[in-house]
Amino acid sequence: MTTTRQEVEKHLISRDKQKEFMLAGNSRFTIYNSKSGNKFSFRVKKSKKDKFKGIFFVEVDTNLENRKRILEEKIFEDNKIKHSFQYNYVGYIKNERYIHSGKSKLSEDSEYNKVFDWLFRNVCANMIPDEMEFFHNNHCARCGKTLRVPESIVSGFGPECEKIRNRS
Ligand SMILES: [Zn+2]
Repeated sequence: MTTTRQEVEKHLISRDKQKEFMLAGNSRFTIYNSKSGNKFSFRVKKSKKDKFKGIFFVEVDTNLENRKRILEEKIFEDNKIKHSFQYNYVGYIKNERYIHSGKSKLSEDSEYNKVFDWLFRNVCANMIPDEMEFFHNNHCARCGKTLRVPESIVSGFGPECEKIRNRS
């Protein structure tokens, strides 16, 4: 499925909103280097279990086919294509720090781990360089539902979660 660049750009999350988006509860996003064409997709999910309170699990799409495709071809997950995203657990976030997990099949030296480590530190510091574009994958950052309303596509939050977001 090819989307126009203009469509893709509606999914851009600005630098000042990236951290909130990432830690909203169930976020899926793609970071794209507009200079090199490299891209990585991640999912960051808050644990619902008491024993993992305050912990976010980080998964990365390891499907190399997705990496080779241009941005317009592969960024959004819809029902038809979502199975081609192969999410693998790589580490977790605790107290605003990212830690590689020894339980992950992906090593600490893997590019996936290094990219997320870099990404998280820079998102927290509000220092993502301009050439690194941060796109949401058309799912609500908080609950993970597919976004359909135009305003939701701009914000990255569905209508219900947007209300909760404004309350807090
Ligand atoms: Zn939602």
